[in-house]
Amino acid sequence: MLIKLFKSICAAAILKTMVVLVFLYLSQTSGNAKNHTIAKGETLGIIAKKYGLTISDLAQHNRISNPNRVKVGQKITIPKKSFSINYTIKIGDTLSSIAKKYQTTTASIAKVNSISNPRKLKPGQKLKIVTGTFSKSTKPKSSISLIPNDTLTKINRPRVRRGRWKHIVVHHSGDNTNSIKGMEHYHRRVRRMENGLAYHFVIGNGINTVDGKIYVGDRWNRQIRGGHVASTALNEIAIGICLVGNFDKRTPSIKQRSSLKALVEKLRQKTGIAYREVRTHSNINPKPTACPGRRLNLQSILN
Ligand SMILES: [Zn+2]
Repeated sequence: MLIKLFKSICAAAILKTMVVLVFLYLSQTSGNAKNHTIAKGETLGIIAKKYGLTISDLAQHNRISNPNRVKVGQKITIPKKSFSINYTIKIGDTLSSIAKKYQTTTASIAKVNSISNPRKLKPGQKLKIVTGTFSKSTKPKSSISLIPNDTLTKINRPRVRRGRWKHIVVHHSGDNTNSIKGMEHYHRRVRRMENGLAYHFVIGNGINTVDGKIYVGDRWNRQIRGGHVASTALNEIAIGICLVGNFDKRTPSIKQRSSLKALVEKLRQKTGIAYREVRTHSNINPKPTACPGRRLNLQSILN
């Protein structure tokens, strides 16, 4: 009987040790930075997904300015993935000894646990520790904060009835040298659209428009239908965003990409449009169209 009890205590202890070891192993494998050679058919998006990271995590870490331009055979490093654990303070622990142990900073631990005085730690006190502090904040910052205030004011100005808009449709202008004036003139005078510029928003590319700038069109101010898809019914309920450029020839600039992401996030927040209803022109148009070009990858921009 006694031996049996002893055996079961041993078994429990061994099991406990194993659990701890497995946990430590998992912590360490996710804590190490790794090298990765880009294979054929791999994009930063695919690699990011594989390691549970975002494209911008990878791009920032490897100083890649254009995430669409990575080459087969290119070597990149995979940053440490952050993960959080619960820690119980032991006698003799200081915030900096804990920070050092888990490769984080005292500021990060203090912030996560709302500690105002790091000297007043009590043994037994429980802490949440986010390690591998690649992302400085625990919550991802909304991309809307990238939109300049004056632009945000313009986007917010019209009152938008919930349910007024059902889709967001992304276009390219087809030419790298397009200007707002030129597009407005083309739609009003050549295409004879009485409301002028067919899109609700245009995002500049740095040639005859400011790179990444969101131009708020008159149709958005007036909350009236667009003229950007080949269907009157769809134009009635679809917000049109045009990125200046020809994305059969090149990819949108970094600033255009981040502005598009931010604008879509802002508009979805304002209108209630579902993520799946953010579409490309070719994806929603009743007639075949090459717009917005093969080199604009909407999913990778929005993720
Ligand atoms: Zn289009």
